[in-house]
Amino acid sequence: MIQESRQDIKSFTLAEMKEQMQELGEKSFRAKQLYEWMHVKLARSYDEMTNLPNALKERCGELFTYTSLEAVKIQESKLDGTKKFLFRLADGNLVESVWMRYKHGNSVCISSQVGCKMGCRFCASTLDGWERNLLPSEMLDQIYAITRLTGERVSNVVVMGTGEPMDNYENLLRFLTLLTDENGLHISQRNITVSTCGIVPKMRQLAEEKLQITLALSLHATTDEKRRKLMPIANRYSLDELMEACAYYFEQTGRRITFEYSLVGGVNDTKEDAEELIALARPLNCHINLIPVNPIKERDYVQSDKTAIEAFKNKLEKNRINVTIRREMGRDIDGACGQLRRSHIAKQS
Ligand code: SAH
Repeated sequence: MIQESRQDIKSFTLAEMKEQMQELGEKSFRAKQLYEWMHVKLARSYDEMTNLPNALKERCGELFTYTSLEAVKIQESKLDGTKKFLFRLADGNLVESVWMRYKHGNSVCISSQVGCKMGCRFCASTLDGWERNLLPSEMLDQIYAITRLTGERVSNVVVMGTGEPMDNYENLLRFLTLLTDENGLHISQRNITVSTCGIVPKMRQLAEEKLQITLALSLHATTDEKRRKLMPIANRYSLDELMEACAYYFEQTGRRITFEYSLVGGVNDTKEDAEELIALARPLNCHINLIPVNPIKERDYVQSDKTAIEAFKNKLEKNRINVTIRREMGRDIDGACGQLRRSHIAKQS
């Protein structure tokens, strides 16, 4: 495949857009117009930009790429209205995103990479390996396309779909800048969560950006030994290093960390696990989100039974640890990460 050398227009900040217009000998207000079409009016192509001269649109078309997604499949849950979208990118790759309606507003869960290289044992996104990073614009496009398709404003964004956001750090940061920009969709930093399997140096780097976003750590186990069985990344960074990085994030940003803990029957759901989790959580200002594991057919992990989940939660609560059980949304529509994309690819081949 020929490598695309043109720059991606939707990943420019407004300041960069202004520089580009200056270089083209265009008036500066054209930058604002273009930016608004892309990031506020959510135009899918230059054709929709009715107040711009054709000559400028043609020039931009020659100089820059313009990303846009095509919805290949939309599944709607009959249980709770959750919608799962499968999108095709310009190069034919597929990504999935989820739209959830909550009392406090609509939330979108986006992917940050095509596939994933982290290899977590219970996760479907990683089974076919990693293909490529998503561009900032391709992360935005998932939110923009869903806003257009649902006709409703998105107020919360979670970067918890396929991929490891900290493994695509520069693009993630640019995406966050554009998403929260007052000249764009202007989503509040406090309404954004980024979830990581625990790449310690990047967690520390993110802390130093001093953003007001929530950092979620996929913990899933309470000892290094147990964590290594579930998550290969645990061979690189120990729990001690991870907890230090979490404390540092709180120290730098004042934002409470979220721990995600997927309960796997007979693997990490015992009384001892709960006690170890309490010991880990107690020194930190954190919130624990218990997720009943979503079984994938390629692995034999099973959900903890209801009584084990309740007992686990109660034990944490008794010890004054802030804990919730994640409501399972869209159980009936290929709920777990990466399942929709994978089942679609399997049907094609
Ligand atoms: N790479 C990032 C974000 C994507 S995964 C991370 O690891 O955090 C989003 C969350 O879903 C993670 O907590 C992940 O461990 C969890 N997850 C993945 N597959 C799951 C499954 N089958 N059941 C329950 N949780 C799952």
